[in-house]
Formats: sequence, C-alpha cells, structure tokens
Amino acid sequence: SYDELKKCTNNFSDSNEIGSGGYGKVYRGMLSDGQVVAIKRAQQGSMQGGLEFKTEIELLSRVHHKNVVGLLGFCFEQGEQMLVYEFMPNGTLRESLSGRSGIHLDWKRRLRITLGSARGLAYLHELANPPIIHRDVKSTNILLDEHLTAKVADFGLSKLVADGGKGHVSTQVKGTLGYLDPEYYMTQQLTEKSDVYSFGVVMLELITARQPIEKGKYIVREVRLMMDKNDEEHYGLRELMDRSIRNSGTLIGFGRFLELALQCVEESAADRPTMSELVKAIETILQNDG
Ligand code: ADP
Repeated sequence: SYDELKKCTNNFSDSNEIGSGGYGKVYRGMLSDGQVVAIKRAQQGSMQGGLEFKTEIELLSRVHHKNVVGLLGFCFEQGEQMLVYEFMPNGTLRESLSGRSGIHLDWKRRLRITLGSARGLAYLHELANPPIIHRDVKSTNILLDEHLTAKVADFGLSKLVADGGKGHVSTQVKGTLGYLDPEYYMTQQLTEKSDVYSFGVVMLELITARQPIEKGKYIVREVRLMMDKNDEEHYGLRELMDRSIRNSGTLIGFGRFLELALQCVEESAADRPTMSELVKAIETILQNDG
C-alpha cells in the first residue's frame, strides 16, 4: 500500500531520486523485507500518465523473463500512481557507454549485453501472450543489474498486438528520434521489425559509443559511409569506433556483429532478421569464442 511504501522507506525524499522520465520521477526505495526497488511515481493529475500507467501495468504483470525488468507491484491509492520494479543498480546502457557510470564495458561484455537484451525482446515478440512490441527500444531503456546482465525496460509506449495481428495500423507514430524505423514512419504499419531496427541502432552504439544522432549526424548513415567492400578488416570504421574497445586487441566476431547490426537497420523490414534469429547469431559468435 501507499502508506507502507512511504513509511518503510523514506522512499520519496529527494536524495532517493534516481531519475525522471516521461511521466514522473523514479526513486530508489526499500520494501519492508529489505529488498531494494525502483519506484516510478506518476505526476499527479496527469490523465495521459494515467493511461500510460494502466497500459504498462497490464503488460508487465504478464511478463516474466530474466532479460526484462520485472514489475514487483503497483499501487493506486490516495491519488497516487506508482509502479514498483526490481532495482537495477548499474543504471542504463547509455550511461555506461557515455562513460558517466564509471563502468567499462569490454567487447565481450557488449556481446553479452546484446545477447541478453535481444533475448528479452525475442521473448516479448514471440513468447509473451499476447505478443508485445516494445516501441521504444533505445540505450536508455536497457538497464544493467548487479552482474551487468541487460534487461529491457519501460513499456510506456508498448501496445498489445492483436491476436495474429501483423501490420497493425496505429494512428500515431511513437518512438524516439534516431531509433525510429523509417518504414514504420512512412507507412505507420507497426510490426516487431520496428523494434529490430531500433535494436540495430543500439548495436551501432555498442560499437561507436555515440548517440544515434550527434551534431546532426545520423549514426546509421555514418557507419554506412565508412563501409567499404574491399576493407575486410574494417579499417575505415576505426575512427568511428569507441576508443576503449578499439585499442583492446582482437574483437571476437566483430565483422559478423557489424554485419548483423547493418541487417537490423535495413530500410526494408523484410530484409531485417527477427529477434530470435538475431539471438541465435549472437549466441554463435559467443560460442565460437569457446
Ligand atoms: P523514460 O520514461 O524517460 O524512459 P523512466 O521513467 O523509465 O524514463 O526512467 C528514468 C530514469 O530512472 C532512467 O533513465 C534510469 O536512470 C532510472 N531507472 C528507471 N527504472 C529503473 C530501475 N528499475 N532501476 C534503476 N534505475 C531505474
């Protein structure tokens, strides 16, 4: 209950604030059994927040997977709207890539983070019932737990796919600039492949550590410009690469990883892999490493 959440924790003091998002603030809190949690608290009286909250609850209460941030509970009381999640102590993938969190992600760790988040998304697409399209895949929605295991978060924009519904037509294009699937943008036909596109952008971030759009330059175009068919060692790409992995010796499966990322961001959705195809391909890279 709200009183319990408030009492056992001092949960909503400013010092416990860990972030703010689309519909309110996020606090670090503790339940009476000592479990550390993240509490999303909606801004009061926000109708839109109310709707987004209900959507998120309905979705998350059905989702249980090791690579999806788990919803532990929620509370609608005394005008409050709150969601209680498992706490992810190592923050967002973006924070790590930008060097702000002080966590160095070596190449192998980046492969594991790719595999984990791809598994989470493959689960949402193919195993959740009904299937779920995330609709806002980006590096700030991939969180890292204490073991640096990646979990996908924030279903505020997600929407249930109608049974067997391929090519669901939605009236409003949603998502984040830089990650948005151009085909979805043009046709407004939303499919799982839109998440695949956004995930491909995240994979390019893992190579370059850059944001999808920096100084007006679009990462997908920048990487394509650097690609040269005769350059099997990808020397042309080196200046775009994240310095901290560029100088760290052999990068296992780098060429294959790059190829997969570029397939994910193909203009035409039909040319992109499915999430579970991607999972298998990344597993193969990691297995070949022994
Ligand atoms: P947005 O709506 O902009 O995607 P959120 O409201 O989901 O943002 O979260 C805002 C910030 O709070 C995140 O960027 C992250 O730093 C932090 N955060 C969110 N959920 C968790 C969690 N489960 N554990 C730890 N930190 C979290």
